[in-house]
Amino acid sequence: MMLRHSAVACLLAALAPFAHAAETEPQKRPEAQPAVTASEASPLPMLNVIYLVPNDMEPLPGHRERLGKILLEMRDFYNRELARNGSPARLRMPLDPQTGLVALDEVKGTHPLKGYPYEGGWKTALPDVEAHFKAHPERKRSDRTLIILPTRGKPGVPFYGFGTSCFALDYEGFDYKDCGKDTPEGQKFKPWYGGMAHELGHGLGLPHTHATKSQAKELGTALMGAGNRTLGFTPTFLTPGDCAFLESSPPCRVFEPRPLRKAEGFRPDIRREGGTVRVTGRLPEGATVRRVVAAYDKDDFGSVNDNYDAESFVVPFGTDGRLDFAFPMEEIHPGRTGKVQIQLRLIHDDGTVELIRHTLPEV
Ligand SMILES: [Zn+2]
Repeated sequence: MMLRHSAVACLLAALAPFAHAAETEPQKRPEAQPAVTASEASPLPMLNVIYLVPNDMEPLPGHRERLGKILLEMRDFYNRELARNGSPARLRMPLDPQTGLVALDEVKGTHPLKGYPYEGGWKTALPDVEAHFKAHPERKRSDRTLIILPTRGKPGVPFYGFGTSCFALDYEGFDYKDCGKDTPEGQKFKPWYGGMAHELGHGLGLPHTHATKSQAKELGTALMGAGNRTLGFTPTFLTPGDCAFLESSPPCRVFEPRPLRKAEGFRPDIRREGGTVRVTGRLPEGATVRRVVAAYDKDDFGSVNDNYDAESFVVPFGTDGRLDFAFPMEEIHPGRTGKVQIQLRLIHDDGTVELIRHTLPEV
């Protein structure tokens, strides 16, 4: 099951830094650009931010201030990266007019903490959130929801993203003041902060991706690669492909989507040619494809978590829908094997993604 694989890999990646605490160095943080706030007051869709409190718990001390600040920083990271990539999209979250921090929508759960385990806990969490939106339809600001659960002791709550929802956690003392610090608190903060930003990426529609060779050199680690272990500590970035997805994601997009019309019958030609892989074809007329992202996935593929190693590229296409793209092989890290699968994602206006997989013959 996709979710199961996704969940496990994301958590393992999140926990890994505990073993490598000594390797990290505090990062010189990039110059902050002006925060995007103008659109917050507009009726454009926003991310729903839910704080789901199990019925045997209370919110953790200072949760509104701590998470409000963490989420504001996370939003600004996304928006700096969208701007750096030249994208007009901006991630919108509800703000508390009093504090200017991201506002949490608190929901009392119908189960005790143990009713929301890591494995399968989403099945009890989602109905609680759905019931909340049914009772308070005005609080549903889009179809995308980040659900944060407080933890006690060893964290064991859902921590993954799939479909239109994503899950992260709160622990006592989870505080942005520890971001970038090489202290025990900083090391604890790192995977849960980076992890939350990474799972949020999934909730907004992003697949995994790896930095290309020049991105790795110039920009560091892709958030949707191993960025859940680096955000706020060492350079971490969003790829142009990530931004192509975000542009159509409801809490980010800045245009009115056309009613979905899929690319019925689109069969691109994908082949090895002259030392590269070339993709040619023509998108059907009338299809609402806004962007095309091609991924070069090595070694293993099939499961959602096999593409951490896949470099991705935005494929340009003309007004007539024609595309002709050759992967820049100098940007692609070698795989362990000769196995390669090309994944073409057709991103529609409304955020719907059509996935075309093509496994190349081994050379
Ligand atoms: Zn992931």
